[in-house]
Amino acid sequence: MTDIDTNWANYFFSRVSELSQAGIDVSLRATSRLEGGAIGYYYPHVKIVVAIRDPDWRATFVHEYCHFRQDRSGRKGWDCRAADTDITEDMLPAEAEYIASQTMLKEFDCDRRALREIKRHSLPIDATVYAKDANAYALQILYSGAGAQVNFSKAFIAALPGDLKKTPQMTPEMRAKIEADAYVED
Ligand SMILES: [Zn+2]
Repeated sequence: MTDIDTNWANYFFSRVSELSQAGIDVSLRATSRLEGGAIGYYYPHVKIVVAIRDPDWRATFVHEYCHFRQDRSGRKGWDCRAADTDITEDMLPAEAEYIASQTMLKEFDCDRRALREIKRHSLPIDATVYAKDANAYALQILYSGAGAQVNFSKAFIAALPGDLKKTPQMTPEMRAKIEADAYVED
């Protein structure tokens, strides 16, 4: 094995063992997508599921592990399951904004933790690519809120990192540029 493989193997087995001691199952599926299209998810207090035929499955595992760490540290917002964070058209704007903002802030916190893991353990994951994907994901949540006619408050917009601050009214051109340029650094 190369050093990179050894780093990953050591990291992965130590995290799986930590999860198992906490009573969390790790389920690795020999597929590239799970039902619903995700590469992985953390089901609070129960399990982490990852589709290991996707080339980014390692980054997904680290991300879901960091959701577990958020959960363990008692971070607010973990009582809502993934299914409760979808924004629907019949929601009141205030309700949609609340859900979108809580989801985004939870994901930002998770992604900062994941970037620290990637760097601290020299994992074979490109941190810049990871951060760009994380921002694109945050934008997707922001737009799902925008589709439900959400007007994010100034305080919420101010809490977003970097370029995302300027995006209450996003055009497709702005979106393409931000997805290409955005970078989250802690
Ligand atoms: Zn997440």
